[in-house]
Amino acid sequence: HDEEAAAKAAAVNADTGAPTIFDKIIAKEIPSAIVYEDDKVLAFKDINPQAPVHVLVIPKFRDGLTELGKAEPRHEEILGQLLYAARIVAEKEGIVDGFRVVINSGASACQSVYHFHLHVIGGRQMKWPPG
Ligand code: 5GP
Repeated sequence: HDEEAAAKAAAVNADTGAPTIFDKIIAKEIPSAIVYEDDKVLAFKDINPQAPVHVLVIPKFRDGLTELGKAEPRHEEILGQLLYAARIVAEKEGIVDGFRVVINSGASACQSVYHFHLHVIGGRQMKWPPG
């Protein structure tokens, strides 16, 4: 069952503060389909898309920001930049008229990569509530 598998994976991948696969994507040591990039933000297509458009928006400098639940006042500016980058991504992907932004924070929300990221999802009718 997909949801159970995701919950288990999230529980295993607890927040340790260790480097993640996203560091390698930022360093371009492993390839990704980049949608938007500036000096602070990288946006790339999710490898396991949940909709026709599914893009991850991440800070290039994690600075301790592993999950939203651990954000500190010094992260306020980058959090705003990431949210605005989500809007740029939505426009570039042709879904700016209707899209969803998701942040999974912690194991009970099924976060699996502990480098803060926004999911920008769209291109189909979304349902509510999410699972
Ligand atoms: P989370 O579950 O932590 O909110 O989201 C992590 C996301 O990262 C998942 O949707 C997963 O598919 C995606 N992901 C994990 N590893 C890779 C990778 O190597 N490349 C890309 N493009 N996406 C990845």
